[in-house]
Amino acid sequence: MFEIRPTTYGGRGCFATCAIPRGTLVHIATTPFTAVIFRDFRKEVCAYCFAYEINRTWKVRLRGTESAGLWFCSESCREQWVNEEDPSCELVPVLEVIEQAVAIARRKLQSAKTGEYDEDFVHEDFSFESDAIEKLWEHVEGLVTSNSVTANPLRNPTLKNRVLALEDIEYDSARLVAVAIVRLYLESYNTSTVPWFTWNGFSGLESHEKDLINRLPALLESHIRVFIFLKAIMPKKLQPFVTTANVRAVLGRESANAFGIWQLPLNSESECLGSSIFPSGSYFNHSCDPNVIKTRNGRQMHFTTSCAVRDGEELCISYGMMLKMPVQARQNLLQEQWYFKCGCSRCTAELATAA
Ligand SMILES: [Zn+2]
Ligand SMILES: [Zn+2]
Repeated sequence: MFEIRPTTYGGRGCFATCAIPRGTLVHIATTPFTAVIFRDFRKEVCAYCFAYEINRTWKVRLRGTESAGLWFCSESCREQWVNEEDPSCELVPVLEVIEQAVAIARRKLQSAKTGEYDEDFVHEDFSFESDAIEKLWEHVEGLVTSNSVTANPLRNPTLKNRVLALEDIEYDSARLVAVAIVRLYLESYNTSTVPWFTWNGFSGLESHEKDLINRLPALLESHIRVFIFLKAIMPKKLQPFVTTANVRAVLGRESANAFGIWQLPLNSESECLGSSIFPSGSYFNHSCDPNVIKTRNGRQMHFTTSCAVRDGEELCISYGMMLKMPVQARQNLLQEQWYFKCGCSRCTAELATAA
């Protein structure tokens, strides 16, 4: 019904390969490549279907592994999560080790004992030019390269000392990165036939690391801390995949490519409960006059035409709730959050009238 090919204005987009009537479900993005429910909400949001009820803690947990930081609304959601997300039981031990490390870091903070790397990497006079950023990452990689990693790093006192106390949002980032790294590890010996769930499919998305760091320089420090945290705690067999390149790949692609997991029904009061990356859904570009509506259905993203689409026309969604904003506000928001100047037909017409 549509194909992904280069656009005339840069990057790739989805183009109709036939006339498509209004109301056609053109794509379902089924399982996120990686996703995280934010720490503040995770007891109230089902880890499988993302069902959310304010102030209601879901009761269903994984059997025997209550410390993985996952809550489910039903046993069937728990079973489906296991089948889809962790059939080989590699992910849950990693999520558990993250939660154990969080507990260790919190205890250390309370007793005011600091870890080995609790100083800042990014000093006030740091230059954010790309070369300096590369050099800093090389320095960090050199610091943490260790041959003392064991099967269970948290049992090793030296490594335990390296566990950084992170901010809540950094723990969320660490979980998001960890899920992606487990997928990469699994792929190393078990080739997936579904391109959207492969690291390659994921890394085909554009990284916005530089744009992100330019906009929010403090995130560089944060990204480094996430890397060091994961390097200290990830099990030995995953260590070869915990590289600065891979961690940066995930964090750089989350920006501008992630879909917020919004409370439903969606309105201006909805809470953002988490973040998910669906590579197949990320090829829909933005337009302020979109012909496709993106809706969340449980954990799936559905893409449905909102008007009749001609053969060859690009299929576009709206990235945020901005369609009622005036043109300049939309332009500013898209530049700030998604790093591009919107040249859609509506913006072009409205900017011409405003000039
Ligand atoms: Zn559920
Ligand atoms: Zn526009």
